[in-house]
Amino acid sequence: MSASYDVIVVGCGNAALCAALSAQEQGAKVLVLERAPKEECGGNSTFTGGAFRMVCRGLEDVRKVVDLTEEEIATADFEDYTAEKYLDDLGRLTQYRIDPDLAETLVNRSTDTVVWLKSKGVRFVSRFGTQAFKHEGRFKFFGGTMVGANGGAELIDAEIKAAVKAGITIRYNARAIALLQGRDGIEGVRIVDERVEEDIRARSVVLASGGFEANREWRTRYLGAGWDLAKVRGSRYNTGDGIQMALDIGAQPYGNWSSAHACEWDMNAPEYGDLVVGDAFSKHSYPLGIMLNADGQRFCDEGEDVYNYTYAKLGRTLLAQPAQFAWQIFDSKVISKLRSSYRIKRSTKVSANSLEELVGKLDGVDKEQALKTIREYNAAVNQDVPLNPNEKDGRGTIGLAIPKTNWAQTIDTPPFEAHGVTCGITFTFGGLKITTDAEVLDVRERPIPGLYGAGELVGGVFYFNYPGGAGLMNGAVFGRIAGKNAGAYALG
Ligand SMILES: Cc1cc2nc3c(=O)[nH]c(=O)nc-3n(C[C@H](O)[C@H](O)[C@H](O)COP(=O)(O)OP(=O)(O)OC[C@H]3O[C@@H](n4cnc5c(N)ncnc54)[C@H](O)[C@@H]3O)c2cc1C
Repeated sequence: MSASYDVIVVGCGNAALCAALSAQEQGAKVLVLERAPKEECGGNSTFTGGAFRMVCRGLEDVRKVVDLTEEEIATADFEDYTAEKYLDDLGRLTQYRIDPDLAETLVNRSTDTVVWLKSKGVRFVSRFGTQAFKHEGRFKFFGGTMVGANGGAELIDAEIKAAVKAGITIRYNARAIALLQGRDGIEGVRIVDERVEEDIRARSVVLASGGFEANREWRTRYLGAGWDLAKVRGSRYNTGDGIQMALDIGAQPYGNWSSAHACEWDMNAPEYGDLVVGDAFSKHSYPLGIMLNADGQRFCDEGEDVYNYTYAKLGRTLLAQPAQFAWQIFDSKVISKLRSSYRIKRSTKVSANSLEELVGKLDGVDKEQALKTIREYNAAVNQDVPLNPNEKDGRGTIGLAIPKTNWAQTIDTPPFEAHGVTCGITFTFGGLKITTDAEVLDVRERPIPGLYGAGELVGGVFYFNYPGGAGLMNGAVFGRIAGKNAGAYALG
């Protein structure tokens, strides 16, 4: 038997580290268990672009967490992203399935939690370039994610530094495999380290070990046929262990088990995330162009909304295409506006000086049909509406079976570029049921004494789709709540 702790946190991503820091604030002796080796720690959170979706009253709230320059203040219009808009987005995108209590907690605690993270040493930046284009001399923010950590690696590094400084123990290569429970509730965690099993005692446990996106077998079982073929955007270690451990002792499965966050991802990216490349295999600039599948056809409205509200469901659409891939097509009018991820060396990209040459380079595509589709699209663009990349401008196509609703521009000015994408899964939506105090519930809706949950392994927050930046925010809000309550429970 190992030394005992007040609180054990399972996982070492953003939700887990927020839980650990918050439990420690209560005076608890905290152990963090990380399945990955130190050099791969931090889960999906390490791979993120760092976007945080928080309630934000324009400049006033941005300034609470970001050090803006005078020039940035003078040239930017920050969005007024109210709690009502945030709740509206969560409701609309989840087809009003989101658990309303969890939604309110997520939204109402968002800004305060970002401020708290800053106080722990996390650096926040404003997201010029990805969330605001320079248009007619000004940046106007859109999409509800004006602030973010400066990338996931820096976020996790800052959180780990804060944890170590606060005296929290982090144990790497320690895979939690079971919860220990007695008559009064949770008593600890069984782990396996280098094939040796070990029981570690604690008065309370926070599960924050991610979803099951890296488990090919569970993906196929719960998400359905074809999901075994998706690439994993992030960590290889999120195989559903925390969910299984809780279900094994009677926790309630909750949320959208047959759905997941999945987006467009470089078709030649490796099977799991690569920490050197991070989020740069994602290709979120598709609203500026069109997408063609192997049949040479468009298959979705690329301009339905700003990418923040469409990318997380696009992966599923890509998986349903013949051979599970597509090419994103752009011309020189927009190439300078593509996100920096389009310029990495490992982007699957072809360039050409004519459309004929371009389609000739699109591997696996019906070239004749591809050319025809581009020409039909060009002819359908409504040139009468002015283009505005910072808002839904209504500049669409006329008469196409699959319209492009906003930001439609002809693809006619060389040089042309195409980027090959497939489905990359980010995280799964099904998981455990928790209260707004982050207590894990059993099938009779009773809290399992001493057991708390946060982050990706919680169900009931996201269904079908997802607004960008809500994952880190969700993990931070409920991680912080879980840690506080786990600490208070352990010491009470
Ligand atoms: C490429 C990419 C970009 C993204 N960009 C953004 C973004 O900009 N903004 C945003 O909000 N969201 C983003 N997301 C989503 C975001 O990563 C998640 O919503 C969030 O990080 C989940 O946090 P978490 O702490 O729940 O899980 P994770 O960060 O995945 O942490 C899970 C932890 O549990 C550990 N673990 C797993 N099993 C065990 C076990 N048995 N025992 C011990 N430890 C275990 C893992 O190793 C890991 O440390 C992105 C995701 C990816 C992959």
